Amino acid sequence: MHKMSDKKCQRTRVCVIGAGAAGLCAARHLSQYESLFVFDVYEKTCKVGGVWNYTDSVGFDDNGLPIHTSMYKHMRVADEFKDQTVLVLGGGPSGIDISIEVSQVAKQVVFCHRNSKPFVNLPQNIKQELNEIQSITETGVELKGGTHLEMDSIVLATGYHFDFSFLDKSCAINVNSNGRVEGIYLHLINQTYPSMAIWAIAMKVIPFPLYHQQVLLFMKSLTGELVLPSIEEMERDTQQDMSLRKSMGLSERHFHKMVANLFIDYSDKLATIANIKPFTPVFRQLHKDLEVFRNQDLVRPDGPYKRLIHRVTTLL
Ligand SMILES: Cc1cc2nc3c(=O)[nH]c(=O)nc-3n(C[C@H](O)[C@H](O)[C@H](O)COP(=O)(O)OP(=O)(O)OC[C@H]3O[C@@H](n4cnc5c(N)ncnc54)[C@H](O)[C@@H]3O)c2cc1C
Repeated sequence: MHKMSDKKCQRTRVCVIGAGAAGLCAARHLSQYESLFVFDVYEKTCKVGGVWNYTDSVGFDDNGLPIHTSMYKHMRVADEFKDQTVLVLGGGPSGIDISIEVSQVAKQVVFCHRNSKPFVNLPQNIKQELNEIQSITETGVELKGGTHLEMDSIVLATGYHFDFSFLDKSCAINVNSNGRVEGIYLHLINQTYPSMAIWAIAMKVIPFPLYHQQVLLFMKSLTGELVLPSIEEMERDTQQDMSLRKSMGLSERHFHKMVANLFIDYSDKLATIANIKPFTPVFRQLHKDLEVFRNQDLVRPDGPYKRLIHRVTTLL
């Protein structure tokens, strides 16, 4: 995995795997620098767009992988949960969205999650259990501590794990037992073989503008305009990132999550390193406001989180 150059015209040859948001963003920028790059995009499905390519199908796609996008639609028309007592497990964005959707038809939703604080202003028929499931029984679940809850249905919104087992071990990318991707600099670049970058490792981000910055940084490193630090320095940077998160009370399990100010700080760091434009003040404010509105009132249709329509005219 050395830097690949097109012998004839000395352009850097790039292989983009996947034509989702990240791959399309890479293709868009690479195509603007024809004199520097020659590239191919490989997409295993017959459509571009990845997760954003909505389909009504459910279950598994032609490649045997679970279809994510339609799940939300099926939760939105959640008649199958009508008058039921439903347990939703997992306190991420999916868990909270699904709890709210299902609560509109269910008798009661038990929203079980491990967050340190309960969510506020949820519909009255959502009961929160800040606990873990010990076991699933024939009629419901047993929580840690022994409480048994009778349930009609259980929805697992427990997220996903990174799995890079398709990469040869020699690529030096490893997911440790806490779910942290090891061997990666800036949640993006392979430390050992910096001609490889992996997108969508940083979570709880605003994907499209972030991918824009990540692609520009990576392209600069490929052309040599940006000289990356040594492996030791990259590893030191990662350790500092971990220490900062530890001081914020975040465990290694959350290493790639850009909570609180971490998203804007991370994007600023990319902008500084790559010498590209940081997010504009209006975008920063929008990001901040939405977080406040979301925490204040996720549900009310006339509340600012649901009511305000923001038209972003430029991110540059
Ligand atoms: C259930 C769910 C809900 C989400 N909701 C939101 C949301 O509301 N807002 C938001 O901003 N983000 C959301 N995200 C995050 C989402 O992952 C990003 O918005 C964005 O789509 C990620 O872009 P990507 O290109 O990295 O991945 P994807 O969009 O998943 O695209 C990956 C592409 O690569 C292709 N591919 C995979 N393996 C190969 C291979 N070996 N060879 C060739 N092609 C391959 C796939 O077919 C796919 O087209 C959600 C994610 C999930 C799973």
